[in-house]
Amino acid sequence: MSFALFGGSFDPPHIGHLQSAQELLAKLNCEQLALLPAALSPLKSTHAASAEQRLKMLELALLECGDCDGKLVIDNREIRRSGRSYSIDSLRQVRAELGPKKPLFWVVGSDTMQSFERWKEWSKLLDYCHLVIIERAGAPLVCSSVIQAWLDRHRCYKLEALQTNPAGSVFYCTLSQLPISSTAVREKIVNGAPLTGWLPTAVADYIEHHSLYR
Ligand code: ATP
Repeated sequence: MSFALFGGSFDPPHIGHLQSAQELLAKLNCEQLALLPAALSPLKSTHAASAEQRLKMLELALLECGDCDGKLVIDNREIRRSGRSYSIDSLRQVRAELGPKKPLFWVVGSDTMQSFERWKEWSKLLDYCHLVIIERAGAPLVCSSVIQAWLDRHRCYKLEALQTNPAGSVFYCTLSQLPISSTAVREKIVNGAPLTGWLPTAVADYIEHHSLYR
């Protein structure tokens, strides 16, 4: 069985994150999928909510949507580590914990590939995991020619092949695409626009109670 990590700022966590996580669990046939909130995303100067608030909102979101029989979990290692949250550092830790044989998936939305060349040690990522790219509504995959060539070289079309190897491949995964982003959530809050269907109720209540994103 495989294990998956889905990292992000979760500022705030929204239904797009949760639905993707639930669909990924089923599609990738994972033993567990861990949502991995960053203490500080390396390519962002700051986050609107604190790390503790983002973690709390993620906990509330999971409580509300259900944890898929314990398969959907939160990994708070980046927040415990503090400082800039480099994916490669987390991957090295997780790989050491899982041992060398278990398939490990690192999930990203297609939008993240645009800045992938700026990720710390990006070319070493596949030493530790498979990269799973999910297409994001309105964000077709755009990346540099160097990254495109690297993706093409490592692309695998058969999920079964990934499940029998611990790391080393790139897999494109199609999910139902919800056009929701944390940026758009924050903008709607500033503008007082309705957020129906975008946030778990407990997350919306937390934001309201703590006057976040105003
Ligand atoms: P922001 O708008 O603040 O950049 P975001 O909505 O992109 O935030 P992140 O927490 O940065 O959310 O994203 C974490 C991961 O989830 C990224 O890989 C991102 O591509 C992916 N993601 C975010 N929203 C969706 C969505 N609606 N559908 C699929 N993937 C998503």
